[in-house]
Amino acid sequence: MTDPCVKLDPSTVASWEQELKRLRRDFHQYPELGFQEFKTQEKILHYLSNHGIPAQKIAGTGVKAILQGTARPDPEKNVPSSKTILLRSDMDALPVKEETGLAFQSTHDGIMHACGHDGHMAMLLKAAAVLSQLSDRFTGNVVLGFQPNEEDAGAYLMVEEGILENPGVDAAFGCHLWSGLDSGKIDITKGPVMAASHYFFLTIKGKGGHAGFAHTSVDPIFIAAQIIQSAQSIQTRQIDALHPAVIMFTAIEGGSTPTIIPGQVEIKGSIRFLYDRGEEILEKFEHLVAGVCQTHGASFELSYKLGNHMLSNSDDMTRLAARSVLDMAGGQDRLVTGTRTMAGEDFSEFSRRVPSAYAFVGSRNIEKNTHFPHHHPCFDIDEDVLMQGAELYIRVALSFLTGSQDVTI
Ligand SMILES: [Zn+2]
Ligand SMILES: [Zn+2]
Repeated sequence: MTDPCVKLDPSTVASWEQELKRLRRDFHQYPELGFQEFKTQEKILHYLSNHGIPAQKIAGTGVKAILQGTARPDPEKNVPSSKTILLRSDMDALPVKEETGLAFQSTHDGIMHACGHDGHMAMLLKAAAVLSQLSDRFTGNVVLGFQPNEEDAGAYLMVEEGILENPGVDAAFGCHLWSGLDSGKIDITKGPVMAASHYFFLTIKGKGGHAGFAHTSVDPIFIAAQIIQSAQSIQTRQIDALHPAVIMFTAIEGGSTPTIIPGQVEIKGSIRFLYDRGEEILEKFEHLVAGVCQTHGASFELSYKLGNHMLSNSDDMTRLAARSVLDMAGGQDRLVTGTRTMAGEDFSEFSRRVPSAYAFVGSRNIEKNTHFPHHHPCFDIDEDVLMQGAELYIRVALSFLTGSQDVTI
């Protein structure tokens, strides 16, 4: 039965404040790294169980829960009988030593919720609790996906283990608290929003020798320098300048003394892009490396590891999510568009399989010191926006499942 007291009016949403803060602070105080979120998983399972929501473990330390709607399909309103939407929150913390000085600062030395995932879990748990009270308002299902290890490929494992099946998921929604956006604003942007990232591992194999007889060697340091310089021409001379892309060299190692030319140099880095078919850069990079090495008589080994695919918001889900923001109190002032970033997000594992939207929930408030960048030791979130995030999860789910443009509850 529907709880007659459940509404999404501003006063009801405001009444969630203390619970959301309590949940978030508890996660914040006991952060766990990716695929080690055992206590976090336990807490989530406990909360869901207390609210009568069936849940199970997935992807090691993740959680999958299913809320079944009990409303009848309404052909007149074109409400389908069995649509399913996935709502996703990530769970993992980072190897960062916290310096916020908060009363509920991390108690796990060197580990910190420095990206806001503690807030995401609080928001999705509260949304689940509210949606479970509203189950006779919708048909179909809400799948709740609490995902481990967002920072390194946890979503893929969830897909492998069936998060998108039984019931088959038709659409997905996720969001990120965002310190690059003012509190109160919510950004929904159509198309590519977070970059693909591919890590590269390159070994340049030359011929070691005496620094005084360089002509008898093949100097891999000299060759490495040329590759690093030349690679920048890919962005500016080989692909459309309107296609966002970066090639970053983040580690280089070779040699040990001033007198010896080393035999090889190892380089690591990442290639990121924010446009369709950006994989072309990987080929161009290999072509360039091969050319420079050949010119100087060196050989090389190059391998790639996928960080994450590009996250792109579908037209339909972008519209639906934007409409959901407009339905919120003050929606006209809230909704913004245009946030795109070269950072990655493995929500893309869902968005490349089903129509999806991913929102940025603004959390920057200089007076509250929540303007530090993500992954910074002083990173913090504006807890007042947790209510907005929870409300957004709920509105998107109801709007998708009921087919209603205006979700007034
Ligand atoms: Zn992060
Ligand atoms: Zn994050």
